[in-house]
Amino acid sequence: MIQVGINGYGTIGKRVADAVRAQPDMEVVGVAKTSPNFEAEQAVKKDFPLYAAVEERIELFDEAGIDLAGEVEELVEASDVVVDTTPSGIGAQNKSMYEEYDTPALYQGGEDADLVDVSFNARSNYEEAADADHVRVVSCNTTGLSRLIAPLEDEYGVEKVRATLVRRGGDPAQSGRGPINDTLPDPITVPSHHGPDVNTIFPDLDIDTLGMKVPATLTHTHSINVELTYGADTEEVRELLKKESRLFVIPERLAIDGSGKLKEFALDSGRPRGDVWENAIWGESLTVEDDELYLFQAIHQESDVIPENVDAIRAVTESADRKESMETTDEALGVGF
Ligand code: NAD
Repeated sequence: MIQVGINGYGTIGKRVADAVRAQPDMEVVGVAKTSPNFEAEQAVKKDFPLYAAVEERIELFDEAGIDLAGEVEELVEASDVVVDTTPSGIGAQNKSMYEEYDTPALYQGGEDADLVDVSFNARSNYEEAADADHVRVVSCNTTGLSRLIAPLEDEYGVEKVRATLVRRGGDPAQSGRGPINDTLPDPITVPSHHGPDVNTIFPDLDIDTLGMKVPATLTHTHSINVELTYGADTEEVRELLKKESRLFVIPERLAIDGSGKLKEFALDSGRPRGDVWENAIWGESLTVEDDELYLFQAIHQESDVIPENVDAIRAVTESADRKESMETTDEALGVGF
């Protein structure tokens, strides 16, 4: 069993903990938190051993009556792999601790690419993470773009990608984020930084991205145009994408007209937290004209990177190849509607 520690138990960390626990070949050693808030209380209820991430805050846990299993260094030492799911920039501060205990670490998309040996997306470059000490599971947006580009690149070749990312202002629990009543070009300059981030996975890809921020919390929405090298038609591309386990081509009959119904569908399907682990591609939008593919896809920012974190654990420990790992992850979580 691969022993996994999770440092940072927020939006991504709590989902990673549940996903790791669901795997047949992994165990959660424990989770580290900075404060005894509602998420800490839930971690205890779920029997995840809780470690203090910051020594000076141990007394806050004592005051809240929460028993700690120890301090984060002990968690790191006891783990075969640590998944760092702390806020952007904190992962970089934690790197020396992982090195001290010689524990391979996975970081999230909020960290810089140059912090790590490899940026990771399971479908696109699983093998590159073999035996790496520091791996970054790329952001929700880069994960969503990479999953789509990989099969197109394999099957048809890709000349150029143009994508406009309409990004949610914040996650549902992020009460301080916005905009509340505005539509922002963000960044206002073109191209946005998202294209170069995709280049950490596909170094030779020609991609330009534009970013926006809108008053929504449910998902990001991508408007995408891909110039393909070899001829394809709409139905061929639809069949190709439908074969990918982490791409959900929404059938027209479901009448899912936006992210609201998509999330409702996920909740009705019994998904934990209403999570949508797959890229949700609107089937009616999928159109090929003169070798140019157009589509809209929704990316559930809180959950699409979760299966990728699980696969990255197997990739760095070299305990399974890509196909076996993705299949095991998908089966254990229930990926695929
Ligand atoms: P979050 O704020 O929801 O959770 C972070 C957790 O880490 C919190 O529980 C916080 O208390 C804890 N923490 C803070 N300082 C810490 C420290 N020094 N040691 C240990 N824990 C500490 O953040 P999040 O949304 O889960 O984001 C985590 C990472 O994942 C970031 O790099 C982010 O860019 C990336 N990411 C976020 C999303 C998203 O939509 N939320 C999507 C993809 C990737």
